[in-house]
Amino acid sequence: APVRRPLMAGNWKMNLNHFEANKLIQDLAFRLNVQQLTEVETVVLPPFTSLRSVQTAIEGDKLLIGYGAQDLSPYPPGAYTGDISGPMLSKLGCQYVVVGHSERRAYHHEDDSLVNAKVVAALGSEMTPILCIGEGLDVREESRHVVHCCDQLDAALQGLTPEQVAQIVVAYEPVWAIGTGKTATPENAQEVCGAVRERVAKTFGNSTAEQVRILYGGSVKSSNVAAIMAQPDVDGALVGGASLDAEEFAKICRFP
Ligand code: PEP
Repeated sequence: APVRRPLMAGNWKMNLNHFEANKLIQDLAFRLNVQQLTEVETVVLPPFTSLRSVQTAIEGDKLLIGYGAQDLSPYPPGAYTGDISGPMLSKLGCQYVVVGHSERRAYHHEDDSLVNAKVVAALGSEMTPILCIGEGLDVREESRHVVHCCDQLDAALQGLTPEQVAQIVVAYEPVWAIGTGKTATPENAQEVCGAVRERVAKTFGNSTAEQVRILYGGSVKSSNVAAIMAQPDVDGALVGGASLDAEEFAKICRFP
């Protein structure tokens, strides 16, 4: 089986000004050594306003930490006041960009076709989309979570080639587990992550499915990360709240 490098991505959400962001990235670097950063890919996802500071800190100290943005416009540069384009982000050195986070789906009414357009825009700007999917509590209680997540996946990957899908990152984030302290059990995480990989295999082929990285997200902490990472189809974690604490996020990145 191919070795998928574990990925720990810290979603800072709408937190920290650029001074605070600079301090957090320095603190994080201080707590992780080169060997750890080689074994586990570590990525931070600051707000747009802190990307330049994070870039300067990472490039200046040659830190082995990646970074990316939390959203992008699906459109090319033009008359879209307040939006940020893919080329702007890739020029700032972003390797990753979150697409379709449940908070954007809920508060900005992002639907599957917009999420698909953003995935395409990210790939078009040579960034790796971290595509978020996940069910709400109502869907889980009706036991429709696997179907729901696979439907979101199909819609978001519409029109992509197997080579493109092989590069992307999918994050399974049950909405009821985000910021609530309620973590899915490792078996819950595996059930959906396994189904996602099977769906990718069916649509894009086995070799694509073996390459695509699938993360779990939802109240991941240093105390529960190892059990989640032990699942065969979980390749990493998307971490919200706990990624704002350098010591805690460093512990999460040192899970093995
Ligand atoms: C997230 O926002 O992607 C997330 C998983 O948040 P938290 O870890 O705080 O639940």
